[in-house]
Amino acid sequence: MSEKIRCLIIGSGPAGYTAAIYAARANLAPVLYEGMLPGGQLTQTTEIENFPGYPSGVSGMQMMDDLRSQAERFGTEIHYGTVTSVDFSVAPYSVVIDEETRLIADTVIVATGASAKYLGLPDEQKYAGSGVSACATCDGFFYRNRIVAVVGGGDTACEEAIYLASLAKKVYLIVRKNYLRASSFMQQKVMNHEKIEVLFETETLGLTGEGVVQGIDLVQYRGLENEQKLHLEIDGFFIAIGHKPNSDIFKKWLKTDEVGYIKTICDTPRTEIAGVFAAGDVADNRYRQAITAAASGCKAAMEAEKYLTEIGN
Ligand code: NDP
Repeated sequence: MSEKIRCLIIGSGPAGYTAAIYAARANLAPVLYEGMLPGGQLTQTTEIENFPGYPSGVSGMQMMDDLRSQAERFGTEIHYGTVTSVDFSVAPYSVVIDEETRLIADTVIVATGASAKYLGLPDEQKYAGSGVSACATCDGFFYRNRIVAVVGGGDTACEEAIYLASLAKKVYLIVRKNYLRASSFMQQKVMNHEKIEVLFETETLGLTGEGVVQGIDLVQYRGLENEQKLHLEIDGFFIAIGHKPNSDIFKKWLKTDEVGYIKTICDTPRTEIAGVFAAGDVADNRYRQAITAAASGCKAAMEAEKYLTEIGN
């Protein structure tokens, strides 16, 4: 592609697609690159029950398919490909896809979302694909009538534990603090579930097994008088401890906070670089919801339109 793009959108979660819908309807001829996980994180979640307009809930995959169709309906050009480097030193901006295709764009909307975090244990690598997973929806099916452990205490961990409990024989939820961080509705569902056992103040030391995960070593009440080591037999280990913003390739040009979330200006998706905007989870360390991501995608497209008008484009 040699033509200059008016509005390049990087990422295909609710922020990216909503930006595309608004940009397309504003005649910005948006071009969207989907990234490594087309549809973003929501394609890996189960039911979305809190997005306004779906009184009976909707699956994450369905919602993303709908958003994609809506973006296409207004003429968004959607491509499979991952941005591997950018140069925001001078406008129009240069963006490289899959290390080979260089694009030039007047405006860029960064909507690259966030990726699942891992504990950092060597065993996570050792048993990758053999009992370790960061996505219950993707891999839960393999654990029907088996025993699994989920680590984490937020909404994701609770949601995954509940989903896995619908398939597995038993689910241990391993929580490092003495409380769950999840919403009270989720907490209640987890605490009252007969197949879920919550282990508070418990940390994972490692996994065991011949080729596949067969057990987990834990320490409970670390540093306290009643500290104890535990070994449980499990078949699957699911990590649900939050996400890391996908901002590494932008850090040379855009300011980020200590975790890596892109800093934007005055509650808008504008960044310090005119014509470059950040929307959705990559720039949101506080709300991280589908609805807030979609809203920021809308704002980013409106800001892009305003910027293009200002530069007479
Ligand atoms: P959160 O950051 O909310 O929670 C992460 C959890 O993992 C915390 O309990 C945290 O413990 C724990 N954790 C982090 N690092 C480690 C570690 N190294 N070892 C052990 N435990 C660790 O992330 P979520 O992904 O759960 O949620 C992100 C956002 O998305 C939230 O705002 C949430 O409300 C939202 N969400 C909403 C859903 C819905 O409404 N349906 C579904 C899923 C997510 P600690 O508390 O000790 O820090």
